Amino acid sequence: MTRTIDFSKYSSIRIGPIVDVLLLDSISSLPDGYTLIGGANNLLVSPNPPKLAMLGKCFDFIRREENVLRVGGATPSGKILSFAKKHNLAGFELMQKLPGTLGGMVAMNAGLKEWEVFNDLIAIRTEKGWIKKEAIEHGYRFAHIEGIVYEATFTWKEGFDEALLAMFKKMRDNQPQHPSAGSCFKNPVGHYAGKLIEEAGLKGKRMGHMSFSEHHANFLVNLGGGSYEEALALIGLAKEEVFARFGIVLEEEIILL
Ligand SMILES: Cc1cc2nc3c(=O)[nH]c(=O)nc-3n(C[C@H](O)[C@H](O)[C@H](O)COP(=O)(O)OP(=O)(O)OC[C@H]3O[C@@H](n4cnc5c(N)ncnc54)[C@H](O)[C@@H]3O)c2cc1C
Repeated sequence: MTRTIDFSKYSSIRIGPIVDVLLLDSISSLPDGYTLIGGANNLLVSPNPPKLAMLGKCFDFIRREENVLRVGGATPSGKILSFAKKHNLAGFELMQKLPGTLGGMVAMNAGLKEWEVFNDLIAIRTEKGWIKKEAIEHGYRFAHIEGIVYEATFTWKEGFDEALLAMFKKMRDNQPQHPSAGSCFKNPVGHYAGKLIEEAGLKGKRMGHMSFSEHHANFLVNLGGGSYEEALALIGLAKEEVFARFGIVLEEEIILL
């Protein structure tokens, strides 16, 4: 089965073609030549992307099993946050305004400052079976996972923290409002990508309908009708300028497809 997706609407940065995406409705390996996507909140999809696949609806679930929370890979972050709030669960407050599916968040070890999805993770289930967190190499915005995250288990810990939620919300309030894919570059060790871009004179730099945000230089924003080519040109420019001025190589956090 496939689902027709218009990436200019589906992706958070609002760029991309209309493509038939293969739906994975049972636990199996990714077919050869396919690339997996989740909610497309960290993607920049080109006019000619590779063949794409995504998890089907049957992997959008949340269940309690004794003292463990079991979540499907296609479950959106907002749904997990609502569940945590309703059941007074701790550890999911960061999902406030952290857009994505569970699979995408685990694959990127998404997080905010010291709060990361891996913090309360117990294990993930891929087509190879269950893998405990301890066996997964992971760090800042990366997790070395071979295979597809079909589901994951988390510690069931009571105490939803409203104060933490309010803090995350406040941190988000000054984020750019235009469509984006979140941070464009990872923070190089000991530096902030946004500050480097700003010091290279590119804060607010515009090409066509794309720009590095005036509010937060590491957010590549779509001002309306922006294209893949414009986004790519800005990414290239930032890498060039930051390297020329500071000798630092910026690495994309955003994934180009
Ligand atoms: C406004 C905004 C703010 C953001 N703020 C933050 C932030 O503060 N911190 C942060 O970490 N991120 C942030 N992001 C980025 C985004 O929220 C995360 O990267 C999130 O994890 C993306 O999830 P997704 O389902 O959309 O994945 P996608 O963008 O679709 O895919 C991302 C990667 O995950 C892989 N993937 C997807 N599903 C699976 C699966 N089931 N199994 C294995 N691999 C999979 C894909 O192959 C791809 O490599 C922000 C994005 C936006 C738009």
